[in-house]
Amino acid sequence: MRGGKEPPEPLTQEDIVRQLDAAILEHLDWMLRWNRSAVCKVQPAGDITSEHAHFLCGFGNWYDLHQHDPLVAQPAFEALALAHRDLHRNAAWLAARAWKDAKIPVEEYDVLVEKVTRFTDLARKLLKAFQKVASDLDPLTGAHTRQTMTKELMRERERSLRSGKPCMVAMGDLDHFKKVNDTYGHQAGDMVLRLVAAAFLEALRPYDRLYRYGGEEFLFCLPDVSAEAAKQALERLRRRIEEMQVPIGGGRTIHVTCSFGIAALSGDSSVKTATQRADAALYAAKEAGRNRVIAWTPDIG
Ligand code: GH3
Ligand code: MG
Ligand code: MG
Repeated sequence: MRGGKEPPEPLTQEDIVRQLDAAILEHLDWMLRWNRSAVCKVQPAGDITSEHAHFLCGFGNWYDLHQHDPLVAQPAFEALALAHRDLHRNAAWLAARAWKDAKIPVEEYDVLVEKVTRFTDLARKLLKAFQKVASDLDPLTGAHTRQTMTKELMRERERSLRSGKPCMVAMGDLDHFKKVNDTYGHQAGDMVLRLVAAAFLEALRPYDRLYRYGGEEFLFCLPDVSAEAAKQALERLRRRIEEMQVPIGGGRTIHVTCSFGIAALSGDSSVKTATQRADAALYAAKEAGRNRVIAWTPDIG
């Protein structure tokens, strides 16, 4: 990252879909301007001839700022960024030549077109992949929606019965969240939801699942984990949320807490029973004073 600025807020899948869509259109327009300059012998603009041209377009700027974001720091984006730099470098050099000389050889123009096509193809592929994932994600929090939840939980339950390894579900609900909205406004509430979900997602293992179950209520599916280990993991998460400082604008930060209820998704419990038990354990956690993790036991009901 250039400059010593603060790292930007984490991106959502939807942010990336929007950016890739814009990048494709932007480079189409940019290519038309490149052609206009070369064909009509108009002096090419700075964003075409500069050796830093790959930082001067919207996409280049965006990538420079967000390249360390967890969703962007992956080989597919690296390949796209390299294709992008490559096309701008080639285009800058060729545009300068076209401006000076009478004509540029057709092979050299074809190479540029190939580079632009490669960038556009890679961007389209990434766009499609992110669109597919984004369609099943809640846009505010990046958690999965409830749409596919029951089916996925049924699959996990069957897998657990087959393998003999336990699978846990947990329900997490922010404490006194209505008060956050009432005191600091809905936007601050949204920021809390985003950051809490980001902390959940960061802490989970790749095969765990997080669903936005309701407004400020999340359901976790934790395969291959004992009740005790799930409790410890959620306890760590609970402490992390408790310690988190949520910026709400104007340099102010607030603290929030979260309560959790855990139940086993295996053996005698159907998906419906397991989620009801996790909900009952969550209710018990609220009753016991909030900001705690409680595992379901038969006496909870
Ligand atoms: P408890 O500790 O018992 O859970 O209390 P609570 O205030 O968190 O629970 P309650 O169910 O009374 O209020 C939940 C609040 O969550 C009310 C609703 O306005 C808010 N909420 C739900 N979805 C969103 C959202 O997407 N954004 C924001 N900002 N608020 C939301
Ligand atoms: Mg709540
Ligand atoms: Mg609630």
